[in-house]
Amino acid sequence: MRIVSVAACLVSIALLAGCASKQAKVDPNVKNLSSPSKLSNTQQTNAVRSFAPVREAKKPKVKFPETPSSSPLARPSTGKLAGRTIYVNSISDIKLKPGEVVLTFDDGPVPGKTPAILNTLSNYGVKATFLMVGSMASYYPGLVKQVRARGHSIGSHTFDHANLAKVSFESGKSKIRAGEKALAKAGINAPFFRFPYLASTSSLRKWLAQRGVTVLDVDIDSKDYFKDSADTIVKRTMARVKARGKGIILFHDIHARSVAALPAFLRELKAAGFKVVALKSNRRPSTGSSLQVSSLIE
Ligand SMILES: [Zn+2]
Repeated sequence: MRIVSVAACLVSIALLAGCASKQAKVDPNVKNLSSPSKLSNTQQTNAVRSFAPVREAKKPKVKFPETPSSSPLARPSTGKLAGRTIYVNSISDIKLKPGEVVLTFDDGPVPGKTPAILNTLSNYGVKATFLMVGSMASYYPGLVKQVRARGHSIGSHTFDHANLAKVSFESGKSKIRAGEKALAKAGINAPFFRFPYLASTSSLRKWLAQRGVTVLDVDIDSKDYFKDSADTIVKRTMARVKARGKGIILFHDIHARSVAALPAFLRELKAAGFKVVALKSNRRPSTGSSLQVSSLIE
C-alpha cells in the first residue's frame, strides 16, 4: 500500500515537473531520471521522476581571477578537506574566500543513495547542506533524521518541486510552507531554502528573508542530472570549481552517478587544495516540536 502510494505520488510529481520544465526556460535536453529504491524496476520505470532539471547557474557577476598567491591550486594540499564553519543569519553571511566551496545536495532524501553520500562525506570529514523535497522527506523521515544526526544542515525545496516563478505569489508561499511542514514533521526546522529549477522571484526571496530563511543559490552546477558517467561529472565539476575558484556547488542525492562521482570529486578537491565549508544556521535549533516551529511555517 505504501509502495503504491509512493509510486502514485511520484508519478504526479513527475507530471507536475514535466509541465514546469516545459514552461521554464531550461535546457530541453536536461532530464533527471531517478526513482526511489523501494520500488520495483517496473514501478521505477512508471514512476520516473523528472523534477530536477536545473537551469545552469547564472554566470558569476564577479570574477575571481586566480593568481599564484590566491589560487588554491598553487598551494599544496594540507591533507584536510574540511574547512571552517560559517554561521548564517542571512544570505549576506555566506562570503566564501578563494579556495572555499560549499557542498549542497538537492531533491532527496532517497534510500540507498543519500546514506551512501553521507558515508562518503564522513570519510572525508566534511559537512554538506541537503535541500530536501517535502514529499521525499514525508516518505523517508528516518533519512531526514539521519542526515541531521550526521551533522549536516538541511533546507527545504518546496513540497513537490514546483517552479515557483510560474505560480502566483500566494501559491508560491503555500508550496514553500508545505515543504517546510513536511520537514517539521521529521523534526527539522529548515533554515535554508533552494528554489526548484533555481527559478526564483524577488517577492518570494523577500518573503523568505523576512521569515529568517536563507536562500541558497548555486555558483557551480555539477549538471549531474545529465546521464553522464561519474567520471564526466567529476571532470566537469572540477573544471568549473577551478575556473571559478570558490562557490556553492550543486549535486543531487537522487542519482547513482552522483553517488559514484562523489569520492573522486572530493579526492580531487582535496588534492587541489580546496576546503569544504560547512553552513550552519544561527536560527534557533529545532527540537522536533511542531509547536515550536509553527511561527516559522506560518
Ligand atoms: Zn531540485
